[in-house]
Amino acid sequence: MKEVTENDLIYLDNNATTKIAPEVFEEMVPYLTEYWANPSSSYRFAHHAREAVETAREKVAALIGAQPKEIFFTSCGTESNNAAIASALRVTGRKKVVTTAVEHSAILNHAEQLAKEGFRTVFLPVDSEGRLSIADLEKAVDEETAICSVMWANNETGVLFPIEEIAGICKLKGVLFHTDAVQAGGKIRVNLADSKIDFLSLSGHKLHCPKGVGALFIRRRAKFSPYLVGGHQERGKRGGTENVASIAGFGKAAELAASRLKEENTRVRKLRDELEAFILAEIPDCFRNGCEDQRLPNTSSIAFAGIDSESILMMLDQNHICCSSGSACTTGSLAPSHVLRAMHVPLSRSKGSLRFSFSVYNTEEDVKKMKAVLPGVIEKLRAQSPASAR
Ligand code: PLP
Repeated sequence: MKEVTENDLIYLDNNATTKIAPEVFEEMVPYLTEYWANPSSSYRFAHHAREAVETAREKVAALIGAQPKEIFFTSCGTESNNAAIASALRVTGRKKVVTTAVEHSAILNHAEQLAKEGFRTVFLPVDSEGRLSIADLEKAVDEETAICSVMWANNETGVLFPIEEIAGICKLKGVLFHTDAVQAGGKIRVNLADSKIDFLSLSGHKLHCPKGVGALFIRRRAKFSPYLVGGHQERGKRGGTENVASIAGFGKAAELAASRLKEENTRVRKLRDELEAFILAEIPDCFRNGCEDQRLPNTSSIAFAGIDSESILMMLDQNHICCSSGSACTTGSLAPSHVLRAMHVPLSRSKGSLRFSFSVYNTEEDVKKMKAVLPGVIEKLRAQSPASAR
């Protein structure tokens, strides 16, 4: 079988992970080859490594309008999410967590585990468009709640939640608020300067940086109990020798993302809209999952009624097209996505749903190829199972 290279690909799975930007790679190399010291060491050779971590901290902070002192590097978005919730439970001594039914498994499975351990967990429902009811949230968040955690943008549908409004409600009720902004960071403007958000999670590999580095924003003066207990790294809030090269890359990626925010919301949005409009107009029995307006600019989730998403993915793969049926973390599971189930998307649609997620590296050519390939793939699969319920 001929090996597939990057040049053959139409990569529309940027919510799963992203291509490493050449600028990010370049930024990392010196910390793997030349300046490989432990940043905590006291000799002068370690100075470069220490400086790289602090420069990256400034750049990540700038992307989200935070202060450098409020950024703590972690190993990934999952760790940041786990750390925020675990800390709130410990610091407040309260036993209740409020979150949503459509969170990424990095929140959902942690909350489910806490429920088994005896904590009270509330998973707020969403409507058919993927939106939360603020009235439900106001009812659920009370004086027993240690933390409320609501994702900024859903990784499957791209639906955005009114995070500042929710953070304000939590503040009024004296409850800590965390947002999983792993999909929102670098795609929409985030400004934490005057925000009521206490904790926010980011992940490098969604921003054209390698996998295995993340950040947790901890609001200045917020009480925090470390999740990884060890050395005094990250001012005692996260033990473990820093992944200097990846952190340096993350800083560069954050800087690039900030400079490309406009492009993400204009050219990238236009590519997404063009593909989505084409599919909905030209392929019968297709439906958008999630509301149209309050959405990330790069994400489109479409239900192809009556067919199985795994079959579509296989045929697209034969055409070197990469997209997904939902979160990469649940790929392989044949159960319909928990997000679409929470939205009460009928089974005949949720089973055949695909997520297309763009980045600044996508081009008009990619959309052209999708338009040429996708209708034929869907037609062929439907012809193979004509009796399938639509
Ligand atoms: N949160 C969301 C919304 C995500 O989409 C992901 C990854 O897909 C994560 C958390 C987990 O991030 P990481 O892969 O860095 O652990």
